[in-house]
Amino acid sequence: MRKKWTYIIAAAMLIGLAGCSGGDADSVSITTPQAAVSAEPTRQADAPASVPAASPSPSEPAASPSPSPTAEEAPKRYRMSEAYRFVPIGDAPKKAVLLTFDDGPKDKEIITSILDTLDQHKAKAIFFVNGYRVDQNPELLKLIFERGGTIGNHSYDHINLKNEDEAVVEDQLSRVQRSVDDLVGSKPKFFRPPFGAGGDTVKKTAKNHGMLYMTWSNGSLDWDSSARDKPEVVIRNVMEQLHPGANILMHELPWTADALDELLTKIEAEGYLFIDPETIAITD
Ligand SMILES: [Zn+2]
Repeated sequence: MRKKWTYIIAAAMLIGLAGCSGGDADSVSITTPQAAVSAEPTRQADAPASVPAASPSPSEPAASPSPSPTAEEAPKRYRMSEAYRFVPIGDAPKKAVLLTFDDGPKDKEIITSILDTLDQHKAKAIFFVNGYRVDQNPELLKLIFERGGTIGNHSYDHINLKNEDEAVVEDQLSRVQRSVDDLVGSKPKFFRPPFGAGGDTVKKTAKNHGMLYMTWSNGSLDWDSSARDKPEVVIRNVMEQLHPGANILMHELPWTADALDELLTKIEAEGYLFIDPETIAITD
């Protein structure tokens, strides 16, 4: 009994290391996502046949205006557990991780570097964007989308939504849905609350907008001062927490972009694949 509780506390502490803040203005946030240790919900029955998750073709550089990365018909190969981890549907490989980059779009050089590295590893990722950044840099949102990145909603202002009224939450989520839809012609299907802080209202509002709500299960701590300008720290933090179905939180930061090639190489060397976000089941 005591051993079990020690394990649960240790697991909670590990996840508690994670937080989600902006790389610049935000203060360091040590928040604990809910349901860090919980039972898996029942498995969905609609297991597809074995179909490759990701299109193997490398993205063309911006030349083609219609790369159609929406892939609405992509077969669903993973579902998310209550601990925000990914569980295979059918015969999808268990050793797979989701890559995510929050708080952009800010900087063309960083985004291009991240996208280039993802292409080199045939990996896809979710870019959780803030609406005010999208309004500042609409061309960067289009760049991410046109190169095959999946756009996620990370609220308009990157504020703590946990104790906000429903109207505020609705405004924060719907403005991003509208902006992204206006720019790329489709709305985000994934939502991650700033600082990992959300309650029932936030979860319900995300669901109303057809989005899958998630925090993360593997925090890179790339936003923490201990990782600033230190790609090797980002790599170490992720590798120490690597687990099947890991939901890896990173940010659009220069040292994370610098870490990415070696990080993905190490993840692959451990036998993991990268989950194509378009193959994640949205309904629960
Ligand atoms: Zn954030």
